[in-house]
Parts: sequence; C-alpha cells; structure tokens
Amino acid sequence: MARGRAESGVTASAAVAPFLRGRQLYARLLGHVRPHAGRFALALAAMVGAAATEPLFPALMKPLLDSGFGAAGTALLPPALFAGAIVAIFVLRGVLTFAASYLLAWVGHRVVLDLRAAMFARLLRLPARFYDEHSSGAVISRIAYDAGGVTAAATSVLTVLVRDTIAVAGLVAWLLWLDWRLTLVALAVGPPLALAVRALSHRLRRVSRGAQRALGEVVHVLQEAVDGHKAVKIFGAHGHEENRFAAAAERLRGYNMRQAVAASAIVPVTQMLAACALAVIVWVALREALEARVTVGAFASFVTAMLMLLAPLKRLTDVNAALQRGLAAAESVFALLDTPPEEDRGRIALGRARGELRFENVRFTYPGRREPALEGIDLTVHPGETVALVGPSGAGKTTLINLVARFYLPQSGRVLLDGHDLAELTLQSLRANLALVSQETVLFNDTIRSNIAYGRQEGADAATVAAAAEAAHAFEFIRALPQGFDTVVGEKGMRLSGGQRQRLAIARALVKDAPVLILDEATSALDSESERLVQQALERLMQGRTTLVIAHRLSTVERADRIVVLERGRIVETGTHSELLARGGLYARLYRTQFAPGGAERAAL
Ligand code: ATP
Repeated sequence: MARGRAESGVTASAAVAPFLRGRQLYARLLGHVRPHAGRFALALAAMVGAAATEPLFPALMKPLLDSGFGAAGTALLPPALFAGAIVAIFVLRGVLTFAASYLLAWVGHRVVLDLRAAMFARLLRLPARFYDEHSSGAVISRIAYDAGGVTAAATSVLTVLVRDTIAVAGLVAWLLWLDWRLTLVALAVGPPLALAVRALSHRLRRVSRGAQRALGEVVHVLQEAVDGHKAVKIFGAHGHEENRFAAAAERLRGYNMRQAVAASAIVPVTQMLAACALAVIVWVALREALEARVTVGAFASFVTAMLMLLAPLKRLTDVNAALQRGLAAAESVFALLDTPPEEDRGRIALGRARGELRFENVRFTYPGRREPALEGIDLTVHPGETVALVGPSGAGKTTLINLVARFYLPQSGRVLLDGHDLAELTLQSLRANLALVSQETVLFNDTIRSNIAYGRQEGADAATVAAAAEAAHAFEFIRALPQGFDTVVGEKGMRLSGGQRQRLAIARALVKDAPVLILDEATSALDSESERLVQQALERLMQGRTTLVIAHRLSTVERADRIVVLERGRIVETGTHSELLARGGLYARLYRTQFAPGGAERAAL
C-alpha cells in the first residue's frame, strides 16, 4: 500500500512536471553527497579546471597561424613557445581530468554504499505486508542493481554535465569573441536540438523504468528456479521454467531495445543538426574570407573551436541516456527508502513477561481480502500453559500466531501480553519475549555455533551454546561432525538432515530463553528416532513457557493443556484432547484424519 502511495505520487508528478521531479531527485541525491562535500567540491574544481583548458587550444591556433608563420613562412614567435604551450595544456588537462574522475568515483561509490546500506536496513524493517506484496526477486534486484545504477547519475553524468558545459561555454565565448555573427548561426541549432533531446529523453526514462521492473522479474524467476530446483526436476518442469524465464528475459530485451532505439536516435539527430550549422558557417566564412574580413588564423581557430565543440555537445546529449537510467534507478531506490517501516509506536518497554497472552474479540482481514482470516477470537493463554492450535487448512492458525508476533495488527479487538496491548509495547520488547520455531527452520549459511548463538544477539558464550545444544539433543550429532560447532551448515542448513535442522532451531530458541514460545510444528514426518529426539527437545523447550503451537503431531495435542480448534477464522471448540474427542465434533473428525496413528499419512495421501 505504501508502495502504491509512493508510486501514485510518482505518476502524478510525472504527468505534471517531469523536469521538476528530475530536479527533486537530484536534490535528494545531492543530499546523500553532502557528507562527502569536501571531496565532491574538489572533484568539481578539478573538472572546472580541466574544462577551462578546452578553449586554450583553439585560442593558440590564431596566433600560431597569424603570427607563428610570417608572410614568408618565417616564425615571428619562438616555436618552442607553441610547442611548450601545447604540452603544458594537455599535461594540465590530464592531471585535472584524472583527479576529477578519481574523486568523483570515490564520492559516487560512497553514495552507492550509503544507499545500499540504507535500503538494506529499511528492507529488514519493512512490515510483513510488504513481503506479501512484492516478489523477493524484484526487491533483491532493486538493492543489487538499482542502487548501482544511481552511480551513473551521481558520477559519470555529473562529470559530463559539469566539464562539458563549461567547455562548451568557454568555446562558445571564444567563438563569440572571434565572430559573433558566425557564432549566432552556429547557435541557431540550439533550440530544435533541445526539443528533440527532450522528447527522446522522456521516452528513455519511461522505458528505463520498464527495464528495471523486467530485470526484477528475471531475478524473481531465477530465484524460484534455484530455490525450487528439486521440484523442477521431480515434476519435469524444465520446459515450463525455461518458458517462464524466456518470457521474462524477452520482456527485458524488449525494454533494452526500446532504450537503445531512443538512446541511439539522439546522436544522429544532434549530428545532423550540427552539420547543417557547420555547412552554413563554412559558407558564410568562406564568403567573408573572400572579402578579406577574416584572417586565416581566425577562421582556422573558429573551425577548430567549432569542431571541438562537437565532442562535448555529443557527450552532453549522450549523457541523457545514462541520466535517465540513473534517475529511473534513483526513483526506485527512493521509493523503497520511502516505504514506511513496521509501525512501532508503542511506548511501553516490557521487561521479561510472565507470559499471559490474551485475545479480545480479535478480527483480522488480510489486505486485499474480503473474508476475515480471524473473527471474534477470544482466548486467554495463562503463563506456562501450552495451547495447541488445530483446524483444517486455511482456518487461521498461522494468522493467529502472526498476530502474536505483531507481523500484522488486528483491525479490531486487541491482543495483550501480560495485560498490555501489543500495539502499546515497543516492537523490540515484545519480540524479545517471543521465541519462534517454525516449520521451515531458518538457518544461515554459517557455523553451527553462530546459528545457535543467533538466539541471543548480544552474544552467547560457548558454554551457553553447548548447553542449549545438549538440551536440544543436538550435541551428539554436532560432536560427530568433523568440525563440530564450527561446521558450516550450507545454505538454509542443506548439509544437515531435517531432524538436525529442527534441533538446531530448538537450541537457538533455548538460547533466547523467551517466556513465550511460538511453535509451528513441521508437517513432514521424521523417522521415529529423529522424531523422538526432536520431541524431547521440544518438551525441554516448552517447559515453563507459554506455548502456542500449531500442532501436527499426536503427542503434542495429547500433552497440550488445552486445544483450540479453529475453523474459517473462528474458534469452534476448546478443551483437552479427551474432552474434545468425547464431544465428537470437528476435533474428533480431525483427529481421525490427521492425528490418529497412521492418520497423518492418510491425510497426506
Ligand atoms: P495451514 O494449516 O494450511 O497452514 P492456517 O490455518 O495456518 O492454514 P492461515 O495461513 O492462517 O491458515 O490462513 C488463513 C486465511 O488467510 C486463508 O484463507 C489464507 O488464504 C489467508 N492468508 C494467509 N496468509 C495471507 C496473506 N499473506 N495474504 C492474504 N491472505 C492470506
């Protein structure tokens, strides 16, 4: 929604004043340059210096031709002076150009670094809703590519703009001084040139935005194919994935070609107009020369300056392509930076909670859905109590625990921890009181030690990690690994078995030692030995904690203090396993299909 707002803002202003919007983007980019203002100023100074040397060469031509060669071809001025001046001009220009490029690259890459860091920090703090609405590929490509794309606007474009604008101004000044009438002829091409460039650049920015989106799609398809490589193989979906990739890549190619057409058209258009001007000038100048009003030196100097003008002019028009790409990238970067982070308006910093959870008439509907995912939920979970959530698929179990973690806020009603409305607690203090062990164990491609210590961000010592591993029945298998606690687990813990991954996740939750535990039991069955170890580890973890568990195992529902049965977002039954079985309602039916020995297998089939 936030993105929608940002986008609609962009679209509205795009219609009104694209030029102004470009200026706002520059202003914002310059804001990021401010911390490096010293180096930036030096870079600009070097650029200005380098550009100022441009008119020196044609200025040298006039005395060289008029006075350097006397009437009989004898030099009137010392040749060494001209030779020395040429070398001096180019040495000076070389040093200044290098300094300007280096300093600007330094500032540019710093800005990209800062932007990437800011985007990443924002990414981590975006609400769960953002992740529902955006594909991860698109988000990744924004940080990976768009932030880098901004460099184009921040550095190369600026170099050309500053250096070449000054060079053009200097050369034009020299031209005016030489012959203002001829110069006016040359400058007459200016307005039509500007109009043509403007029209083309407008289109360029539009297709650049499209290209960015298309690249996001390509990354998205790639990512799904890489993550789901096993499913692709099993289902023989190579063809399907190839088609999906080809379609996304083709869209990107289309945008790239449209970019290329617009960018390539700018140069010939400029050159044709410039050639017309040159033709007129040569024609006028030659006629004036016949009337002996123009010296050979002045004419040569004029034409040299004019020809020298073409290169910076061409760069100035060329730069537009890079500029539009850079601005489109900057737009995307700032849109992400402007997406509001998770709401955190709570003022109460709760210490260690007792662990009483209460739902008061909670109703929650996912954005874009009409049917509420939860409705009229009233439930109190006492400190230390274990409540198992059961219900058919889509009943709202995950949503319920999502509300406890405040991944979403209910539209009406309240969720309370120790009597405090979750919305009034600081996010940090709420989440410090929660531990989560989910179906998909989230392990990072790091050592076992770091993965367990992740539970305590302020740092967990080796003894704590070892004790947690021991309690989670993970010690044995860790010790058997060649590098023990220093073993790197692979992406998503791929180098471990499912049961081992789960026990590491449990050890991590033990290290966190939070009073409230949220458990989303794995549905996939483990072999009985592994199952027993995981079960024991979980029991250890649940001891003395308030536990909300999405139950998939018979042992969990049997041992739970209470079972809450959800159906279509409402609580339909509560009670203990035996009470609910005796009642013969939904739970009894679910029990027969899901929990009774062999039931899970039947349900899976
Ligand atoms: P399961 O046992 O299959 O995981 P569940 O009981 O956990 O199901 P929920 O995930 O809570 O069910 O989903 C409840 C309802 O909300 C479903 O109708 C689902 O389609 C919808 N829903 C879940 N997540 C989202 C989301 N991020 N955006 C929109 N709707 C959602």
